[in-house]
Amino acid sequence: MKACKKNVNPPSAQDLLRELQHIVDRPIRIMVVCGTHNRAIMRYDLRGKLPINLELVAGPGCSVCVMPAGHVDVFVKIGMQPDVITVTCDDLLQVPGTRDSLASIRAKGARVEVISAPQESLEIAKNNPDKIVVYPAVGFEATAPSIAETILDAARQGIENFCVIPSIRLLPPTLDSLLCDPDWNVDGLLCSDHINSLSDTEAYTHLARKYHLSCCIAGFELEDILSGLINMVKQIKKGVSQLDNLSTVLYSREEYSKAKEMVAEVFFTIDTIWRGLGIIEESGFVIRDELSLYDATKRFNIRLSDEETQCQCFCGMIMAGRGLPPDCPDFAKGCTIKHPIGPCMLSSEGICASYFKYTMEEAKAVD
Ligand code: SF4
Repeated sequence: MKACKKNVNPPSAQDLLRELQHIVDRPIRIMVVCGTHNRAIMRYDLRGKLPINLELVAGPGCSVCVMPAGHVDVFVKIGMQPDVITVTCDDLLQVPGTRDSLASIRAKGARVEVISAPQESLEIAKNNPDKIVVYPAVGFEATAPSIAETILDAARQGIENFCVIPSIRLLPPTLDSLLCDPDWNVDGLLCSDHINSLSDTEAYTHLARKYHLSCCIAGFELEDILSGLINMVKQIKKGVSQLDNLSTVLYSREEYSKAKEMVAEVFFTIDTIWRGLGIIEESGFVIRDELSLYDATKRFNIRLSDEETQCQCFCGMIMAGRGLPPDCPDFAKGCTIKHPIGPCMLSSEGICASYFKYTMEEAKAVD
């Protein structure tokens, strides 16, 4: 989908920080849902500049971090079949299954190629008619339209040597399952531009009302994040529970409708497992029977496991907003970017990786 940019001139970061210092007059706890926001917050050393009463906790919005080892095992098993070319995003390469990763099977001779968009799979399939091109589809609901579009394009063009391992996850049901816990004490959700790409803003509006949360969609620049936080603090002070949208990335109603239609044509929801968080109802997408030719699990007769492998990693706690990386006993000791233990350190969107990178380097100055 194409996006257009609104023409806005936000106030400076210093002005926004001053305003935030002025308006926060009580303890406020905000969940930063998205991994990209968490990385930006670390890059700008924002926690150190915020009012002392404003606490930011992490959320489950890193798709690689929530990928269970059992699903990676299926990617590996299919990737090792003869005549398979696995095509994947760079971030997924190193994520470990119980024994192997896509990177380790590539080192053993399996054909694994890195692509930047699912549509590239179709070119590879056309150029390799004697192979089956398999795309492990990971990501959240925002990635679903482009994957659905690729599957529909393959069907339209009669490309039969392409299929997808469906491991897409939906954030709203997972946030709902976390918010159900009365101890889970947050006042608002900072949401990313990504949720604008499919009309699931309704799901966040529903969460805001159901759990009396003040929520805001904001971009990834420092000024965007600060504006989002100011918006939420003002909502909280007025007792307002809604989703506001400060995003500069807008999609037309036609684009929303087209994305929704494509997703509904290709996928339906099922219960699925999240690493560290367990099985969550209606939180995953699978491919409809009519398009089973494009479902690698059916084609290779391999089921995506719902079993969680035991891992000593603290990632589940961090993604549930119950701690930050320095609370993990392995952080920066046994677990570093060079020698990661868990996916939160391994993924570039992972909060442990962001903490490690930006607490070891000088934070980008805002003044
Ligand atoms: S520091 Fe490493 S072991 Fe600890 S939670 Fe993060 S990724 Fe997991």
